[in-house]
Amino acid sequence: MNFSVTTMGTASAMPVSDRNPSAQMLNANGRLFLIDCGEGTQQQIRRCHFSFVRIEAVFISHIHGDHLFGLFGLLNTMGMYGRKSPLDIYGPKALVGIIHFYTFYFGAGDPFEIRVHPLTCKSPEVVHESSYVKVSAFPLNHKIECFGYRFDENVSEHRLAIDPGRRPKSYAYCSDTKPFPELPGWVKGVDCLYHEATFLDSMADKADFRYHSTTVQAAECALKAGAGRLIVGHYSTRITDFEAYLEECRRVFPETFAASDGDVFEL
Ligand SMILES: [Zn+2]
Ligand SMILES: [Zn+2]
Repeated sequence: MNFSVTTMGTASAMPVSDRNPSAQMLNANGRLFLIDCGEGTQQQIRRCHFSFVRIEAVFISHIHGDHLFGLFGLLNTMGMYGRKSPLDIYGPKALVGIIHFYTFYFGAGDPFEIRVHPLTCKSPEVVHESSYVKVSAFPLNHKIECFGYRFDENVSEHRLAIDPGRRPKSYAYCSDTKPFPELPGWVKGVDCLYHEATFLDSMADKADFRYHSTTVQAAECALKAGAGRLIVGHYSTRITDFEAYLEECRRVFPETFAASDGDVFEL
């Protein structure tokens, strides 16, 4: 049994040669859940050997291009593969118009249904549940409407019978956000927390102005939440010394990992 996260895109908004914009794949016992879909996500899905047609749902944090520009290409490819099962896409209200634009101009012949679920929650709310995973959405504090997601594994009685010691795993994804008081409580006790850390501690003014977080702020969130592990990413192009960057996080929260594209974190 497997519950893992693959960081397929760890850059922030500007293009860089060795990192893609935001995208992650949560693998819950073979069921795939795509989290954000920056430009180039299709190629990353290929490189990481995931199946296009086995993606069960897509969770978009917000309507900034570095989290979304890969979606049209991905939908188009799913169509070419003859996907039949409906695809659920969760995200801010603006997604409704964006997907409408896609289906009108590009997706008329696609053999599968796209079901858009616009989010309006002001605190954590369950938005998707299957026999494998329960997903809650919650608002973040970014320049525009933005949502984080928490994934709690559902372990069926059947699977518990095979693996009696199995404890359900949990993962939370906090995309672009400034710190805010409620967040650690909303991701309390997760086995693994992804929290953006776009800037170094010395760039706190810039982080505040752009509604992003620093290394220390991400680590403080993990500490207050009692997370098992912290993954950081969404690096500003100004970050060049990753040793120093990671050191800043680990001073506050030792179990921090700075993600690279293609890293797999087993939970
Ligand atoms: Zn971003
Ligand atoms: Zn953003």
